[in-house]
Amino acid sequence: MANQVTRTHVASIRNHQQVCDDLDSLGFAASKLWNVARWTCDRIWDETGTIPNDGVLKAYLKNHERYADLNAQSSQAILEELVEAFDSWYTLRGNGDENANPPGYRKHGDEHPRSTVTFKEDGFKHDSDHNQIRLSKGRNLKDGRQDFILCEYDADPDVAIKNVQQVRTVWTDTEWELHIVCNVEIDDPDPPGDRVAGIDLGICNFAAVAVGDDALLYPGGALKEDEYYFQKERAKCDDSDSQKARRLDRKRDERRTHFFHAVSKDIVAECAARNVGKIAVGDLTGIREDADWGDHGNLDLHGWAFDRFTEMLEYKAAEHGISVERVDERDTSTSCASCGTTEGSHRVERGLYVCEECGLVANAEVNGAENIRQKVLPTLACDGGDRDNGWMAQPAVRLFDKSTGRVAPQEQVRRKS
Ligand SMILES: [Zn+2]
Repeated sequence: MANQVTRTHVASIRNHQQVCDDLDSLGFAASKLWNVARWTCDRIWDETGTIPNDGVLKAYLKNHERYADLNAQSSQAILEELVEAFDSWYTLRGNGDENANPPGYRKHGDEHPRSTVTFKEDGFKHDSDHNQIRLSKGRNLKDGRQDFILCEYDADPDVAIKNVQQVRTVWTDTEWELHIVCNVEIDDPDPPGDRVAGIDLGICNFAAVAVGDDALLYPGGALKEDEYYFQKERAKCDDSDSQKARRLDRKRDERRTHFFHAVSKDIVAECAARNVGKIAVGDLTGIREDADWGDHGNLDLHGWAFDRFTEMLEYKAAEHGISVERVDERDTSTSCASCGTTEGSHRVERGLYVCEECGLVANAEVNGAENIRQKVLPTLACDGGDRDNGWMAQPAVRLFDKSTGRVAPQEQVRRKS
């Protein structure tokens, strides 16, 4: 059965340098309109004792000068966002949350932050043949009637971007990116089988996958080399805010995104081939607060990177009918996946997890992945121990091949280089 869902694709902007100033102007204008609306809410509150709904707010402001800085639908979206923020503050306060604050002004001293701008059907034109999106400006910012912003984008190479419903320009602190919201018809395919896979995400090995009798390992070497290279190049820039530095940051993000796409695609394909219907992936929330994080290879890979990877995994898996569940990672690296012992009786040596209780010798990350897998395993599937755990020490290694941009078995990638 076909199923309609919306899916948001994050795309980088290839001609960033050309469109950056224009996008800045819109982002600043959005903050100014937000502030005007915020102030108006205060005034209406003072007069009437209530916060206006978005219909009232739009009627109030549609002739305001700032309203015409953006496409009318983009301006409306800002007001809707503000009213929603008031609503959720109301709800929190109603639930007794004393610390909840009403939405604030978007201002740092005399500076305005770059707000997200939303473009609805009147506000953009998508050219899927050339990976281009045309974004419209408001009357005030237009240089002549035909003025618009033409963005060339790079999105997931494995996905056709079509049926675009909405585009958002989002400032990431270093660059603008496009969030492209598409309507997608998915066939709701049957899952390839009822087996469960567990994934442990890390740094040295970017991902370890356990399927119960078989394991895969995705080393993070290519990613680490990139990080090292870009860190070194960036250190050579005198001005960390220069165009060159920004270009390096963008290039690094692009490469990282590409790596994520290649690995998530390969994991999904390998899982499908093993009749996996559900993937459990470790939720790294705990690790982010871990003081040891800095020792994991001096890598500037924050939680958002793992979140983004997990999102990719989710929508790529969905296309195969495979569901993805995020599970708490607690204890998954310390307990033994074979006998379940949690404390004291294990050691980790050269990447191997050795259990002194039952004698298990496993790749440490595969042991973690197997623990994650077991967290979502239906209890019926327990086969009562006494099984061969040799596979946990011998994961098949799959490498990112820089020359093809794809992941392949280690033997194939090595042979070529
Ligand atoms: Zn054990």
